[in-house]
Amino acid sequence: MSTVVSSVPSAATANADAVERLPHLVGGEARPGASGRTAPVFNPATGRQTGELPLASIEEVDEAVAAAATAFEEWRRVSVARRTKLMFAYRNQVAEHAGEIAKRLTAEHGKVLADAMGEVARGLENIEYACGLAEHLKGTYNEQASTGVDVYSVRRPLGVVAGITPFNFPAMVPLWMFPNAIACGNTFVLKPSPRDPGAASFIAELFHEAGFPPGVLNVVHGDHVAVNRLLEHPDVQAVSFVGSTPVARHVYETATAHGKRVQALGGAKNHMVVLPDADIDLAADSAVSAAYGSAGERCMAISVAVAVGESADPLVEAIRARMEKLRIGPGDDPASEMGPLITAEHRDRVADYVRQGAEAGARVVVDGRQAQFEGDGFFLGVTLLDHVTPDMKVYRDEIFGPVLCVVRADTYHDAVELLSDNPWGNGAAIFTRDGGAARQFQEDADAGMIGLNVPIPVPVGYHSFGGWKESAFGAHAIYGPEGVHFYTKPKVMTTRWPDPAGSRVDLGFPTNR
Ligand code: NAD
Repeated sequence: MSTVVSSVPSAATANADAVERLPHLVGGEARPGASGRTAPVFNPATGRQTGELPLASIEEVDEAVAAAATAFEEWRRVSVARRTKLMFAYRNQVAEHAGEIAKRLTAEHGKVLADAMGEVARGLENIEYACGLAEHLKGTYNEQASTGVDVYSVRRPLGVVAGITPFNFPAMVPLWMFPNAIACGNTFVLKPSPRDPGAASFIAELFHEAGFPPGVLNVVHGDHVAVNRLLEHPDVQAVSFVGSTPVARHVYETATAHGKRVQALGGAKNHMVVLPDADIDLAADSAVSAAYGSAGERCMAISVAVAVGESADPLVEAIRARMEKLRIGPGDDPASEMGPLITAEHRDRVADYVRQGAEAGARVVVDGRQAQFEGDGFFLGVTLLDHVTPDMKVYRDEIFGPVLCVVRADTYHDAVELLSDNPWGNGAAIFTRDGGAARQFQEDADAGMIGLNVPIPVPVGYHSFGGWKESAFGAHAIYGPEGVHFYTKPKVMTTRWPDPAGSRVDLGFPTNR
């Protein structure tokens, strides 16, 4: 029989049978939900319900936005020196609690602990970037732009910013957003994924423990009701969204129609092109790591290997051989390399794609549906489909699971054309020993992030992350320098301090002298 606990227990001490009830965080206060609507949270490795999440009402979202709007009036005036100190304190809090954050990720998302630690490390990079806010917010100055006229520009915060995040990186994606936004002087309302909300709540608690004033960061848990209110709320100035393409499009269209600045990152179908001269072992290691890591639930996962010419047979065989050795199991077992999928429904949906691929004529080299697992966890084995063609649904749809499709292409040009015709454009990679071909690919590949012998080219925190085509809506990429631009608006001052002795009336249009 389960019991309900009202506050957030530490991952280490949580009663194994308790169902955790996470509060919203509004104006620095933990608030139990008042809407009467809830969603279950599961441990995907056991299939057991571990949490009951309150789903915010419109009124609860309004309270969070009001708290952020009130906090903005003070926060925008806090000195760069103080903001920097607080951000460093937060960086240290997250670094100190990295292990605990990772445990929460594993407990609710299912990814293996080592992978969860990697997620925290990549999130930390974004906090570290935000620690450099003095440098990022430096204005520019032109002395004597015209005779006796100096011009300078500064970047000002926008106000209240909302962030809406997906289930697959429950800590890292929020960290792509709020440290930068808040360092720039904004206040923030975060709406995490309802499937694995614990890590986001925990990193928000750490944020307050670092000393940030109440209301600077607020967390509302919820579903489409909360999201749609944030998209329409008159006091929300900008929206950062990361999730699937249909929702990203909805977020972009709705929030821009309500006059907001929007960056909405969507889904992906990332291709890895393997040329005949590639080191097949390196390419196979990379394909297996990038396709099946985190059970394929990464927006930068490789889901299509494009085998060019004679690379195909050896590549398929090298991938197959590696798949046999993969250890799939609970994420908190150090022996596991891949954990379960996020929900039972998603596992069944992915398994159904394998069936559809086989029916459409793909060759099932390894069938993940055949793998056997004990218990009620949401596990699925790894699948390799060969001879996939672009008309097949397994090629066209984002499966978001441990399924790798191999498409055989006759030439490099056929491979590049495949990428161009694909509606998504998040990441793309090429494996080759030919520097000239790699450089050509860098120019030809129709995607926002390119890997040359690198299968998952997620940019470091001081560059920016963003796809093209159906993988991103809005003009700005996320985090890094593009994040600073997204979260600020420029203001330009044109100044003249004339010598009153030379003053006269002049009705002409001011020209630069
Ligand atoms: P999702 O689109 O289902 O959910 C994302 C967020 O939107 C969640 O907070 C969710 O509560 C909310 N949401 C869901 N349906 C909604 C609706 N109808 N109206 C309003 N809000 C809604 O995505 P997910 O399943 O949580 O995450 C996986 C997806 O995210 C994949 O498609 C993956 O490729 C994508 N993703 C993209 C990136 C990127 O950087 N491009 C990064 C991570 C994940």
